[in-house]
Amino acid sequence: AMQYPEHIWHNGVIKPWAEATVHVMAHGLHYGSSVFEGIRSYATPKGQAIFRLTDHLKRLYASAKIYDMAMPYDIDVLAKGCRDVITANKLEKAYLRPIAYRGLGGFGLSADTPTDLAIAAWHMGPYLGPDVLEAGIDACVSSWQRFAPNTIPAGAKAGGNYLSGQLVAREARRLGFGEGIALASTGLLSEGAGENLFLVFDGALHTTPISAALLNGITRNSIITLAKANGIEVVERDIPREYLYLCDELFMCGTAAEITPIRSVDGRQVGAGKPGPLTRRIQDLFFGLFDGRTPDKYGWLENV
Ligand code: PMP
Repeated sequence: AMQYPEHIWHNGVIKPWAEATVHVMAHGLHYGSSVFEGIRSYATPKGQAIFRLTDHLKRLYASAKIYDMAMPYDIDVLAKGCRDVITANKLEKAYLRPIAYRGLGGFGLSADTPTDLAIAAWHMGPYLGPDVLEAGIDACVSSWQRFAPNTIPAGAKAGGNYLSGQLVAREARRLGFGEGIALASTGLLSEGAGENLFLVFDGALHTTPISAALLNGITRNSIITLAKANGIEVVERDIPREYLYLCDELFMCGTAAEITPIRSVDGRQVGAGKPGPLTRRIQDLFFGLFDGRTPDKYGWLENV
């Protein structure tokens, strides 16, 4: 069982974990009406840094805007809350989970309920298993597709979206795979249950476009930026499923998953069946941000 942290930020104050409760009739619980973020902080030579905190919080406000959800605090208050909850729990590195949800205040779908906010922080190792960053995972294509455009907006990081993610991730786990990959309603590749995808062909990175019902991932954006700055070609394009089997290398990325190599898909070995040279290079550039090997030219490391 998980060991819970001692403190949590809830509606503007740091309180004991057990006191951060929500009413069973809260709108968000019934209708999936919450928006959230996943953010990591790392121990760096210059002290603990929260990776792209401002960009994550901007995305939180963007998700709230899509759902017309009022945000009772401005972004600086949440940024401070993120720092305070790390400090309150004495964490050396952390996974941060800010969430805004429609609270108690009406049961109709369009009810103008108050928005409640919480920020949790805890220690989290590699998301998909202890040795996956080195060994890679075996993935499968899900029997569940992503939601079609103009149904549930994939560009919002909203609680309800993760009904889809749960179907994909639980099916994969039931079948013995490390993670599931979903196709878009077009039948083309979309993304993992909670990760974006990169394929390698002839030394270039190929990734699926945001039109393929995926979250505009901040890790994805960071990889594209680092790759281009280091002379690696990046192509955003529609990719049919079978190219998962044919690419030279394949990896998933996300705040939780970081950069997780994929060594097989649907039982077909990908490339050499182990993390390839470009995957290793991208891992080095990305993790190098946190041990000082990769200069932070972009102001991505925000001190606690
Ligand atoms: N897609 C989905 C569905 C996700 O949940 C996540 C994790 N937030 C990602 C992609 C990766 O996004 P990021 O790199 O911003 O964490």
